[in-house]
This record gives sequence, structure tokens and C-alpha cells, in this order.
Amino acid sequence: MSRVSDPIDVAIAGAGSVGLTLALALKKADPSLSVAVIDPRPIASVKGDDRASAIAASARRMLVRLGVWSAVAADAQPITEMVITDSKLRDAVRPVFLSFVGDVEPGEPYAHMIPNETLFPAIAQAALAAGVREISGETVRIFDADDGGVDIRLDSGGTLRASLLVACDGVRSRLRGLAGIGTVGEAYDQSGIVTTVRHELPHEGRAVEHFLPAGPFAILPLKGNRSSIVWTERSIEAKRLVGLDDFSFEIELARRFGPELGEIRLDGSRSAYPLSVQIARAFAAPRFVLAGDAAHAIHPIAGQGLNMGFRDAAALAEVVVEARRIGLDIGAIDVLERYERWRRFDTLEMAATTDILNRLFSNDLAPVRLARTVGLGLVDRLPGLKRVFMRQAAGFDPNEPRLLRGEAI
Ligand SMILES: Cc1cc2nc3c(=O)[nH]c(=O)nc-3n(C[C@H](O)[C@H](O)[C@H](O)COP(=O)(O)OP(=O)(O)OC[C@H]3O[C@@H](n4cnc5c(N)ncnc54)[C@H](O)[C@@H]3O)c2cc1C
Repeated sequence: MSRVSDPIDVAIAGAGSVGLTLALALKKADPSLSVAVIDPRPIASVKGDDRASAIAASARRMLVRLGVWSAVAADAQPITEMVITDSKLRDAVRPVFLSFVGDVEPGEPYAHMIPNETLFPAIAQAALAAGVREISGETVRIFDADDGGVDIRLDSGGTLRASLLVACDGVRSRLRGLAGIGTVGEAYDQSGIVTTVRHELPHEGRAVEHFLPAGPFAILPLKGNRSSIVWTERSIEAKRLVGLDDFSFEIELARRFGPELGEIRLDGSRSAYPLSVQIARAFAAPRFVLAGDAAHAIHPIAGQGLNMGFRDAAALAEVVVEARRIGLDIGAIDVLERYERWRRFDTLEMAATTDILNRLFSNDLAPVRLARTVGLGLVDRLPGLKRVFMRQAAGFDPNEPRLLRGEAI
């Protein structure tokens, strides 16, 4: 069996946005760390997908610190206002129940929308430039931890040894299963239909979330007169809608979109992503941790999944680099448990919040509609409470990892 690399400090399985951000954060903080990323695809070929991501203000601060922001800034559309309506599909006028306007800090919007086809390659290029080693055309088949390190066997039969193995291999994480870590949660029988539209009138940075009976329908502003759509439907209906010809799909889209931005036109492909809530029962084991969707998948209703993965990357990089600076073994379970404690509460809180919001808003029962109308109206009339929500959406929390405050590790 051939060794594909000398022993390394941190091996990361998965060159998604979370795995690559972690690799970049580690190399930026301590260039002497050897960091390798294992993925079937070469890092240089990372292209992103048809979605756009709402990047919270705290995540933007990290991307600035990591030198990624300058590569995405031209395509980053600030969200200057968030409007929420609760209505039925046939309602001619959709009353606004809640709106958030303005910046979270002066000159700092609480989020930006960035197409994944801009964001993901920018992170990948920065990781390569920082000296992250890549082991491409490979997946992790099996691993075995001992006192001195973890032996990792790849599908090709090659092996490598590391002090720490991080699973960033997505929602169906093979590594999580290999480590014997189960999950709690469930599939929603909902899918998120994603597409991009061009519209006649400017959105002026306004993001709109229509809570329709089948689930949230989000219109998220992109640069120019364009918006990214995330449209929740029952999975069987989503499959039918995505399979329609362009003309019929556009009609269905326009019924939900509303008339505010004038005529709309499809401006990209469309796909449906199955939605679930799924949290790993543990985030850490000896010489092994989970991060990103491998640790937690949530409903995209609040656009927070990747932001949570960024927080994992920032917290784990800080824990590893600090442990190494004081001479600790970076794969020791007590070091890794610090990461787990740091990230677990925030993860559970966000998963519960998005789960409750989805159940509350994907429901057409009259008492539930009344309760949410009263609830939203109340929040809208209390500026203090609105500010708290806005700061949470921006990811501002005194317990944030240093990178998310824009500071170096
Ligand atoms: C419709 C929709 C809209 C969303 N919108 C937002 C948003 O606006 N804002 C936001 O913050 N989040 C959003 N999210 C969530 C976000 O997209 C995910 O949380 C994020 O992409 C997860 O990234 P990841 O790197 O953890 O996993 P992935 O992107 O799934 O990457 C996993 C990587 O692991 C590799 N891999 C798999 N198996 C192996 C193996 N055995 N060995 C090695 N490598 C392996 C894969 O090739 C892949 O490169 C949305 C999600 C959906 C479904």
C-alpha cells in the first residue's frame, strides 16, 4: 500500500466551501501547519452551483480577514431590507407583517447575497494560494485512530497519516458513519427549488420572504435587476414543477413572485434540493471532528447553513492553532471537545429555530395562521426586539470565534 503524503497535521475530507475555508484559516494562522484536503474533484476545478448564499456580516468579516472578500465583492449584493409577508397564493395584496431595514452597524449591512459560482471558486483559489495540499481524485474509505495519529485509507488503496482528521464531506457524510456517530432529525418531505430571475424593476437591495401555504418563497437580491429564488414545496410537487417546460415554469413562478418588480424572466437553470434537519449526536471523537453539513443540516428558511459551517471552520481553526501554540496534541480529545462545546449549543439553537419557523410557516391551519400573524405583528412593533433579531441574523454574538469578529487567530 503506498503512502500518498508524508505525515501531516490536519487532513480534511471534503473540498466544499467549509472544508476549504477551514484549510485556508489554518494555513493563514500558522503557515507551518501541514494541511491536506481530500476530495474526488481537484480544488482548482471547484465551480459552485446554481444557488446564491446569504453571507452574514460576521462571515463577511472573516472572508475579509482571509483575503477572499476582494475576489467576490463585485458580485456581492448588500441586503438593505428584509420584508416578510404571510399570505395565500391567490391573495391579490400580500400584507407586510415584518420588515427589517438598515445596517446592523453603520455602513455594514447584516448580509450580502453572493452567487455560489463566484464564492466557492474564490475560496478554493485562496486555499491553493495559501499552500493547502490537495489529494484529489480520492475519497476516504476508512480510518483508524491511535495514540500518535490517525491512519487514513483512500479508495485507491493509498494511505496517509495525520494528527487530526476533519470530516467536511457533506450531509450524507461517509466519515460520520465510519466513526459510528449517529444523527437526530428527519427529512422534511420538502424540497427547495432554486433558480434565478431577471426582473423589470430594481429590487433596491430588498429581500422578500413570502410565507405561502406550501412553505417559504424567498426572493433574494443579486447584482443588477436579478434575484435568486429559494422556493419550498412538497418534494413531489417540486419534482413536477422543475420538470415543467420554461413557459409553464415561469407562469408558476410569476404567481408566487407577485407584481412588485414588474415582468420577470428566467435567468438560469433550476434544480430542487431535498430538505432535512439533521444534527450529529457528537461532533468530536479522538483525532476526529465533524464540521459543516456533515455535522448539521438545517432548513434554508433563514439562509444560515453555510454561515454555521463558516463558524465551525473559524472555531476549529482557533482551537487547533491555540493548542499547537502551547504545545498540546491537536488531535487529543480534550482539545477537540473544546470545539464541540463551542459549536454545539449554537447549532442546536439554530436547528430548533429553523425547524419551528418551517413548521409554523408551512401550515395553513387557521389558528396557526392567526398565531403567526399576531407574533410577527408584535415583533414588528418592538424596535428593540427587531434589533436583537437583526444582530442574530448578522451572526454577532460575543462568543463568536475571532475570525468572525474580523480578527486574526
Ligand atoms: C436550497 C438551499 C439554499 C441554501 N442557501 C443558503 C444561504 O443562503 N446561506 C447559507 O449560509 N447557507 C445556505 N444553504 C446551506 C449551504 O448550501 C450548505 O450548508 C453548505 O453548502 C455546506 O457546505 P459543506 O462544505 O459542509 O458541504 P458540501 O458543499 O456538501 O461539500 C462536501 C464535499 O465533500 C466531498 N466528499 C464527499 N464524500 C467524501 C469522502 N468520502 N471523502 C472525501 N471527500 C468527500 C464532496 O465531493 C464535496 O466536495 C442552502 C442550502 C440549500 C439546500
